[in-house]
Parts: sequence; C-alpha cells; structure tokens
Amino acid sequence: MQKKMRFLVLAGLVFSYHILPSKIVLENNIIKSALTKKPLDIIFKDNQDEKTIPVVIIGSGPAGLSAGLYMGRTKIPTVIFAGDLPGGQLMLTGDVENWPGVIRDRGSNIISILEQQTMNAGTFIVQDTVTKVDFSKWPFKLNLASGDSVNALSIIIATGSTPKKLNIPGEKEYWGNGVSSCAVCDCTFFKDKEVVVVGGGDSAVENALQLAGYAKSITILVRKETMRAAPVMQDKLQNYNNIKIVYNNYLQEICGNGEYVTHIILKNALTSEVATVPMDGVFLAIGYNPNTDIFKNVLSLDRIGYIEVDKKTKQTSVEGVFAAGDVEDYDFRQAVVAGSSGCQAHFGVVNFLHTIGWSDRYNTLCWPNKDSAINLE
Ligand code: NDP
Repeated sequence: MQKKMRFLVLAGLVFSYHILPSKIVLENNIIKSALTKKPLDIIFKDNQDEKTIPVVIIGSGPAGLSAGLYMGRTKIPTVIFAGDLPGGQLMLTGDVENWPGVIRDRGSNIISILEQQTMNAGTFIVQDTVTKVDFSKWPFKLNLASGDSVNALSIIIATGSTPKKLNIPGEKEYWGNGVSSCAVCDCTFFKDKEVVVVGGGDSAVENALQLAGYAKSITILVRKETMRAAPVMQDKLQNYNNIKIVYNNYLQEICGNGEYVTHIILKNALTSEVATVPMDGVFLAIGYNPNTDIFKNVLSLDRIGYIEVDKKTKQTSVEGVFAAGDVEDYDFRQAVVAGSSGCQAHFGVVNFLHTIGWSDRYNTLCWPNKDSAINLE
C-alpha cells in the first residue's frame, strides 16, 4: 500500500464521534438511525468525495462482536455489517455451558447480550451483508447486498465457517434439539444417552472422544468402508468401550417427537437395507466450509479455504485487513476462542491505524505535519 496515497486520503478526513442509538440502517450510503432516519455522522468524505468508515467488521458472531466491543472502547468509529446470519453459529445452538461467566444460557441469548454490550461500547451494527470486496486499492471498497458501497480504512473479517449439512429430513427441524455439530459445546446434554456421530474424519473422532465421557453409547457412522481420520486419531478410539464404528452406512432421516430426536433411519450403502435405530442425539462431523467465497483471489487462503493470518496480529496477506474467529481457525471452532481472536484482531487494527497517523488524543485522523507523513514513506 502506498503511504503517500494514505496521506492524501487521510488528510481529507476529519470527523466527530457520536453516542449511538441501537438501531442502525444504511440507506443511500449513509448510516442512519432506524427510528428517526437521521444520518449519523460517522461516514466521512475523503478527498475523492467518497465515504469512508475508519473500521469495518464483516460478520457478527462472537469474533466480530468481540472485535466490535473492543473497537468501541477505543472510540474509533466502527461499523459491523452483521451478514446473512446475524450472531453466527451460536444463534443455531441450543443451551451453551462453555461461554465463560455464563453457567447455562441459550446461544441466542448470549449473542443478544454481546450485541447490546458491543453497541453500548459505541460500535454500530448494520443489518447488511458484504457481497464484494476490493482490496486492490486503499481505502478498501466494500459492496453491500442493499446496493450501497462503503470504503474502509481497516477491516476485520469475521465471517466464520458453516458446518456442512446432510440436507436430510429432520436435520433442520431438530437442529439445536438433538442435532448438533459441536460435541464440545453440547456433550453434557447427552449424559447416559445414545448418540451417533456422522463422518469418518478427524472431527468425527474428536467429537466421539468428547462425547465418550458423557454418552452411554456413541456410534460413528462412516459412509465408506474406511475412515479418513489420521491413524493416530483412530487409535485413540480403542481406549473406549462405549464407542463403536459402523461402516458403509449413511443417515437417511432424523426422526423425533416434535421436540427432540427419538430415532434415526440408516441405509446400508452396500445392501440398500434400511434400519430404524433408537437415538437421542446426532452429531454431524462431515466438515466445515469457511465463509471465504468473496475473498478468493483477494487474500491468501490455505488449501481448504481458510484465511491465512499472522498468528499474533491476525493480519491477512493484505496490510490493514485482519481476520478473526472460525474463518481463520479450524483447529478449535469455539466461541470463546473466536471472541479472543476478535480481541487480538482489534489490537492489530489499532496498531495499523496508529501507523498510518491515527490520533487517539483528538479521536481523529490527522497528520500533525506534512513532514512526519512523508517520513512514513
Ligand atoms: P474431513 O473433510 O476431513 O472429513 C469429513 C468426513 O465426513 C469424511 O469422512 C467424509 O467421508 C464424511 N462425509 C462428508 N460428507 C458426508 C456425507 N454427506 N455423509 C456422510 N459422511 C460424509 O472433515 P473434518 O472436519 O473431519 O476435518 C477437516 C480438517 O480439519 C482436516 O484437515 C482435519 O485433519 C482437520 N482436523 C484436525 C483435527 C486435529 O488434528 N485434532 C481435528 C479436527 C479436524 P469420506 O471420507 O467418505 O469423504
């Protein structure tokens, strides 16, 4: 990125900061109060007469909201574009018992509190989805589903990942009520119950091991005659007599009583035989898709499609663009890890903004004198 260009753009930016109402909309490229429709003065004209937001966060799960919470506390104006699933995966989870400080609560309640906390800190949350990004020039340009477009000085990507689904009857109906993709999150709800883990990869093994201390029996359902999981992972299963593996079978339907799962229907891949099996829980471990479609050919992604970041600063391959949470982490996939990575990314952003001339003292972008700007080149 060219520092001289930064100087020219930043020199045109001066703004003030406002305490925010909680409901925000974006209309005609201006952020407005949803109630009064009055513009909120946080989008600023730069010298090219375009509007620029200091910090944009893409995604509103635990990573995006935590980043927003911390950004709000810096008083650097920040807008979160909430995306197609505001709140992220936690909105689809049932009870959560592993969010620190909360003994047990619905995932949606935890998100609701985090949203309020983030807005109280001063960050805007806009219900819109970023559909296209242009990181080839700076300020970065973002296109939104509403038709608007905005520029940003710095960006945190927190778009998460989506567990792959089977798209079979009952899966959607019982999601969060017996169907899950996270054993770490939900294992305690299956104490002395019968559960099935679908998949033959490392995640399936991890889910089964996690459940082993709780469930009465765990069946790993593998669609082929072999598991894909690393041999060292498969070896671990031998230590548990409540885990069994059923090969060459796939899940055809998840059935229940309208409230929770009661049984499943399996089909044998070799004989086409169908069997009905009593079951309390279904864990899907058939892989995740990182939500990185709009960043392909824009950022460095790993071979699976996750965004590559510097582990400490969370900076991506583009200076000024950071990533946090499940979109850059497939090892842990935990809300609390995503939250802390959002916090880390905020430090990266603050450091970046300071590097390009942000002044905390005035809460403005300013260059004390032209020489110091030129020295940065
Ligand atoms: P994988 O893609 O490795 O495995 C997915 C599994 O699900 C495969 O066995 C696949 O079967 C099966 N599957 C896919 N679609 C279906 C379907 N429709 N019906 C039934 N089964 C299906 O995903 P993972 O999440 O397990 O792992 C992703 C990456 O993360 C891997 O690189 C893995 O090594 C890594 N990882 C590492 C861990 C660790 O080191 N501790 C823990 C967890 C993940 P098939 O084999 O027939 O295609």
